[in-house]
Amino acid sequence: MENWKRFTQDQRIAYFSMEIGLKAEIPTYSGGLGVLAGDTIKSAADLKIPMVAVTLLHRKGYFEQRFSADGWQLERDAEWKPEKHMELLPTKTLVTIGERDVKVQAWLYSVKSPTGGEVPILFLDTDIPGNHDEDRTITHHLYGGGLELRLQQEIVLGLGGARILRTLNFPIRKYHMNEGHASLLTIELLNSARLPLEETWDERSSWNTQKVMEQCVFTTHTPVEAGHDRFPYDLVEKLMPPEVPIDLLKELCGSEQLNMTLLALNLSNFINGVAKRHGEVSQNLFPGFKIHAITNGIHPFTWCSPFFVNLFDKYLPGWANEPELLVRVDNIPNEELWETHSGAKALFFQYIKEKTGKQLNPDLLTIGFARRAATYKRGDLIFSDMERLLEIGEGKLQFVFGGKAHPKDEGGKQVIQRIIQQVEMMRGKIDLVYLENYNMDVASRFIPGVDVWLNNPMRPLEASGTSGMKAALNGVPNFSVLDGWWIEGHIEGVTGWSIGPPPAEVDQEVGRANEDLEDMYQKLEKVIIPLYYKDRDGWIEVMKNAIGKNAYYFNTHVMMRRYVTDAYIR
Ligand SMILES: *Cc1c(COP(=O)(O)O)cnc(C)c1O
Repeated sequence: MENWKRFTQDQRIAYFSMEIGLKAEIPTYSGGLGVLAGDTIKSAADLKIPMVAVTLLHRKGYFEQRFSADGWQLERDAEWKPEKHMELLPTKTLVTIGERDVKVQAWLYSVKSPTGGEVPILFLDTDIPGNHDEDRTITHHLYGGGLELRLQQEIVLGLGGARILRTLNFPIRKYHMNEGHASLLTIELLNSARLPLEETWDERSSWNTQKVMEQCVFTTHTPVEAGHDRFPYDLVEKLMPPEVPIDLLKELCGSEQLNMTLLALNLSNFINGVAKRHGEVSQNLFPGFKIHAITNGIHPFTWCSPFFVNLFDKYLPGWANEPELLVRVDNIPNEELWETHSGAKALFFQYIKEKTGKQLNPDLLTIGFARRAATYKRGDLIFSDMERLLEIGEGKLQFVFGGKAHPKDEGGKQVIQRIIQQVEMMRGKIDLVYLENYNMDVASRFIPGVDVWLNNPMRPLEASGTSGMKAALNGVPNFSVLDGWWIEGHIEGVTGWSIGPPPAEVDQEVGRANEDLEDMYQKLEKVIIPLYYKDRDGWIEVMKNAIGKNAYYFNTHVMMRRYVTDAYIR
């Protein structure tokens, strides 16, 4: 039997995502969305949930990040070799884009769990001899190029993905769209749904829509109107294959512009946001639809440092496939928990030394901040009042930063540059390192290796945030604005600390930065620094609560069970 055919025996959930992050060596992700997709698939494999995932190959990755001498981000292609990780399938499919037929091939990667579960991923690729040179580059770069390339990629992902599943004979029970990039798959389903012949056209078309809706699940990740993919119809007419009727699109995706989110909303029976707050925010954005909420998670084994793996194996055996067991973290003696954390911290500091030559002091309270350098994440907020920060933190604090800005995001690059410029300004007073090329490998050393995980986005723009969950799993408490998952995970002084006003008081972040900043400085000075240096057992208590009250729950095992009961089996 050909290798992939073992996956076509059972009905599966088809999980579509423009980016999937499995590991650093396969650089087909840019940040939280892709890592979430990878973690989702890994938990599905652990839990033996029948799933098949579809994404693009992105042969040249997202990009590798370096800095110029003055702290400006430089990018180069993240080349990798698909054949080292996956197997090329013999079957191809075709999509028409513009004037040309484009061949699409698929690479098979299998995520294997120690439980025996297995989830195949199809990485779609148009870099095939015989395709026009321009079409061969469609699947090269994740989020590269402009609108035209984006639409081409979404045609390959949505239409090409749905087609290749059919060509390979995968029986599909649900299609799950992770964000709106794959919405065009619904059009493919509409076109291929069987029509009861005796009905009139209108009846048939509404019956058809009903059938497609029953098969589709849509997870939205974007809390602002402007963040959703939109394409002008002249571009759509130029690129879209003839079997996709433009009139129908205008009905389903908006008459002015093709809005991919609207398409997914209109053709899904189950729609959800990625945290409770984000569910509410999305409900306000899309009042005509019922929006549920399923809070994101992280894959426990992937994000647990080897030090904590040993500790949990000793005291909470079975935790990796049953993370609920972390609720019994109090069985772990304080000294052992502290030693474990110190081990992770020392290893990370050694890594920093190797990469930058800088030796940080392991005895100092170390604050970590790393994620995509999008401006709404306000990476440089804490440096707004240097005098104050030095007053509070000199000799007591040090910082490690990381994160990439999108190559076209000048604002994000400026944020990075401003942070790097602080290194000089604080020299001899507060140490600060900005690590290059933040990716899953760096993240897995970074997050467990600091003492506090800082997050201060503008509300309500952090739909969920997942890096804070990775921190909690490794006993690193969160110090964060009340947005996304932290609204659900935060108990003040117990699981970590909040920054700024409670969520009920904030609808849109207008002029609240000063309040956030003031609260941040206050808590650092009055609560966090004293607790760290003067009450080590009190500090360890917070670390334990991060594990026992956050990590036991905010993981993709719990999340997947929710998707199964609420969305997949309906
Ligand atoms: C987890 C992760 C993220 C997500 O971070 P947020 O703080 O939730 O935005 C981004 N990038 C990498 C490499 C990650 O591992």
